[in-house]
Amino acid sequence: GTGSYDPDNIFAKILRGDIPCKKVFENEWVLAFHDIAPKAPVHVLIIPKKAYVSFIDFSKNASVEEIAGVMQSAGRIAADLHLEQAGYRLITNAGQNAGQEVPHFHLHLMGGKALPAFPA
Ligand code: 5GP
Repeated sequence: GTGSYDPDNIFAKILRGDIPCKKVFENEWVLAFHDIAPKAPVHVLIIPKKAYVSFIDFSKNASVEEIAGVMQSAGRIAADLHLEQAGYRLITNAGQNAGQEVPHFHLHLMGGKALPAFPA
């Protein structure tokens, strides 16, 4: 569950407006903004507005409506950024072995160049 969610993580602060971000898209489900250290010409972070630590937390605790809202938003953002034709990558890191830095569930949307073979 969300019991271990840290309300002072950096994305919680961005959601509260306590620290700024370069916003790409926002609706009732998500906020999307440019990664501060982009690994590709397009590197956008898509985060649910509600508090989930990881993908498993989100998948267990979000409503079907919210899961659809988040995933449809990610698709819309990718299309709006003209990534469909050339291709893109959508990933989430969860926990220590994946190198998750920020404990608020997020999707990385990357594109705009030929991406390294995965896993890099
Ligand atoms: P993770 O490793 O948790 O999947 O990825 C966290 C991502 O958040 C990293 O790519 C990192 O560059 C990005 N990031 C960390 N702090 C900030 C911040 O304050 N603002 C923005 N826009 N991105 C951040």
